[in-house]
Amino acid sequence: MDLSTSAAPLPNPQSAVTRRLAVAVGALFVAGVIAATGALLGIATQLDNDDVNDNRFYSARALENRITASKNYITSYAYWTSAYEHLSDVVDTNWAYTEQNMGKTLFTSDGYDGVFVLDRDKTKYAVIRGQLLETDIAGYLQASAPALVAQVQNQTDLTKPVNAYSLFEGWPALVTAAAIIPNDERPMDEPGKISVLVFVDKLTPTKLRKIGSGYGLNNLTLAPDGTIEPGQPRVPLDSTGYSLIADLDRPGQHLLWSLMPTLGTTLVVLMLLTAYFFRHAMRSSRYVDNSFSAMQASNQALETANRALEASEERFRAVAEAASDWIWEVDRDLDLTYLSARFGEVTGYPQAQWLGQDIGQLLSCDTTPLSLWLRTLSEESSAGDLRCTYRDQSGQPRHCRLSARPIFDGQEVAGYRGTASDITDEVAAHAQIQHLSMHDALTGLPNRNKLARYLDDALLLKEHAPPLSVLMIDLDNFKPINDSLGHPAGDAVLQEVAARLRECTRDQDIVARLGGDEFVVVLHGMDTHHEIDKFCTRLIGSLHQPVTFEHQPLHIGASVGIALSRRHGFVPAELIRCADIALYQAKSEGKNTWCYFEAHMSDQIQTRRQMEDDLRRALKNDEFVLHYQPRYKVDGKQIVSVEALVRWLHPTQGMIGPDVFIPLAEQTDLIVPLGRWVLREACETALAWPEDILLSVNLSPAQFALSDVVEDVREVLVQTRFPASRLELEITENVMLNDTDGALTTMNALKQLGVRLNMDDFGTGYSSLGYLRAYPFDGIKIDKRFIASISSGANDRAVVQAIIGLGKAMGLTVTAEGVETEEQLEILGKDQCNEVQGYFMSRPVDKTAFAQLLKVSKTVQPNHSRQRKGRVA
Ligand code: C2E
Ligand code: MG
Ligand code: MG
Repeated sequence: MDLSTSAAPLPNPQSAVTRRLAVAVGALFVAGVIAATGALLGIATQLDNDDVNDNRFYSARALENRITASKNYITSYAYWTSAYEHLSDVVDTNWAYTEQNMGKTLFTSDGYDGVFVLDRDKTKYAVIRGQLLETDIAGYLQASAPALVAQVQNQTDLTKPVNAYSLFEGWPALVTAAAIIPNDERPMDEPGKISVLVFVDKLTPTKLRKIGSGYGLNNLTLAPDGTIEPGQPRVPLDSTGYSLIADLDRPGQHLLWSLMPTLGTTLVVLMLLTAYFFRHAMRSSRYVDNSFSAMQASNQALETANRALEASEERFRAVAEAASDWIWEVDRDLDLTYLSARFGEVTGYPQAQWLGQDIGQLLSCDTTPLSLWLRTLSEESSAGDLRCTYRDQSGQPRHCRLSARPIFDGQEVAGYRGTASDITDEVAAHAQIQHLSMHDALTGLPNRNKLARYLDDALLLKEHAPPLSVLMIDLDNFKPINDSLGHPAGDAVLQEVAARLRECTRDQDIVARLGGDEFVVVLHGMDTHHEIDKFCTRLIGSLHQPVTFEHQPLHIGASVGIALSRRHGFVPAELIRCADIALYQAKSEGKNTWCYFEAHMSDQIQTRRQMEDDLRRALKNDEFVLHYQPRYKVDGKQIVSVEALVRWLHPTQGMIGPDVFIPLAEQTDLIVPLGRWVLREACETALAWPEDILLSVNLSPAQFALSDVVEDVREVLVQTRFPASRLELEITENVMLNDTDGALTTMNALKQLGVRLNMDDFGTGYSSLGYLRAYPFDGIKIDKRFIASISSGANDRAVVQAIIGLGKAMGLTVTAEGVETEEQLEILGKDQCNEVQGYFMSRPVDKTAFAQLLKVSKTVQPNHSRQRKGRVA
């Protein structure tokens, strides 16, 4: 499936994430800035608040200390017996001012702006800024002096001073008052009459700054309450309308101001960076958006590629698991250090059994020692293949192709590793192919190739080699068996023949099959005629025994042609050729015989071969003619039938009889077209003859085997319109010898065409009587050999009489052929033979002569002498 085209475009999750991330970072940045600013402001505010609190606290402390100091100081003056003595009632100004007990120094040294001694109703002593003045305190002090005196006098502990704030000369001052009492045990006046000492400490800015600096306060001063800014810490001085204030440090504000430029710059930079990041992120996001489709496509392509890769890996795994290869590794001593799991599966051995063992113990190579081969690899730093063998756990020999590569540790070879592919099947297949190329598949015998090799080797030393006899064997009767019973029967015969040939030979001999029914036996170290004759007798005897196929005995024979190395040469092909020629000779001499090659055979063979060629040509050139020989009633007068007999009008050799070329035509396939020609020619010719004359045509057994005789006959009858009832086919017993059932079927089919069947040459075959019963013959022709001797030997006549009797008993027309004499004719007449044929009545003549004969036979009187006259010689 093409995902890139079929999938709908999807929203890009990544670009959305990028956008969200950018917004989040922006928000985070703003939040961070706000938080940092808040924290900073908080710190600053806190610092400032602390500063305010400190300012107020220390201002108050400074004032309190001033008060405490003033109280202690006034006490040292008022709680003093001398002061009591000189200031109670009337003030001793001299003691007080002049003697400086309570005079100028209180202003110059101690800073008191006013020193007063008061009663409840008047000011008894007044020193203003060190100057003794006759004045009333009320003119200076805003606070009520009598109230202050009363407050002092009303105290339970008169030694304790009191203090108050009040304007003095219009400026706030610290007023401290104490009862002037003796500091001894003497009796005192009643409290209402006790004088009160008052120190006025005007809180001038100079004094305050001095006091404040002692407490770290800047610019401690007094300000009217209405002028003080809100937030400014202050210590109010009661009803004076003034408060004590000091400058605030404002560390928070300082901090803010000091950090402001740095913070501002940092903030600006961060903002710029954030803005840049934001823009970049958004642009990337847009870019990602734009290229998302492409990315999707490429992702899908990647996915497809990944799937392909996975599939490929899967395949590889499957292949690797299914493969017969196992992986091995050895160290530098060639001891096995690793064997893959496949090793166990292929060899049947547990891996552990071989680990640590020398690889040479496991594998061996018949062409080179394994160790040597491996070392060669390390020298050349290359890889290679070696065919090795080993025995698997079950003891079976196996083959493998070993590939190896050196393992390097730096420059040194640390070992070797490689694979071993099991090639046992391959080797077996190769061996089988080798075997098949050298052996015949059907019989398992060596074939022509193997024979050639054997002869090459055996004849290598020529005359120094042991003698060899080459026997070429051809089976007689094999072809009909094979053609009529089918290949299974033929195969069974060939296999049986192969077995018998092997049985007859010794180990040093060779039996080969060249093809078809041709075998060769090479006898090693045997070349005397005596020995070979003995062997051939045995061989032919063995092959003559019938071969049983499906409970049916099949009869074969053999012809043997023999060539001898010491006589006929040491060239294998030439020996075979000589044996072949000798075989040809043997076959032409008759079946079941053997023949040694003779030089002249070459010529004979040559002649026969020439004739074969000529025969082929003759068919094309229409060189055949038919002669006709009549058959008579036994009276020898009335022609009942005429037999067509073929002749060859050879352009150079003249007329050649069928006995010469029919066997040749039968050995080749020429008998088929020749037979068809004879049948057609005879029918066409006989059409012109009287209807009561039958036409006899000979059929060769080879025609039965090589063609569909029934169809051939039918075709000719149809095409020539010759009546089937006038046609008689002559068949010899040989046609039934091998394919008895097939022959029967064919003959029945022929009968169904409406033709007659005559058994020709009766008495020359094997088991004539059996055939007569089983087959649909209409008549028999007693072979001329019997007829030739009926007049001379009583025995033969008895045989002929028996045949005639039997034939007639079976309802067959009995013909005697080869009747050459009157005597023979008479005997046959006496013995009640049905019909006769022979030179005595008529030789075979050409069609014109036969037509003439027909005319004559109609006109002549039926007596022997006249008939003889009419006989055409
Ligand atoms: P056959 O069918 O038995 O034919 C009879 C043979 O005997 C013929 O020889 C004939 O000329 C010869 N003959 C006839 N009367 C006498 C006689 O009184 N004395 C002697 N000694 N011989 C006599 P021919 O024509 O040479 O034929 C020989 C054989 O050739 C035939 O024997 C037949 O088997 C075969 N033949 C001839 N023509 C054909 C043919 O067209 N087709 C086939 N398949 N075979 C044929
Ligand atoms: Mg015949
Ligand atoms: Mg005959």
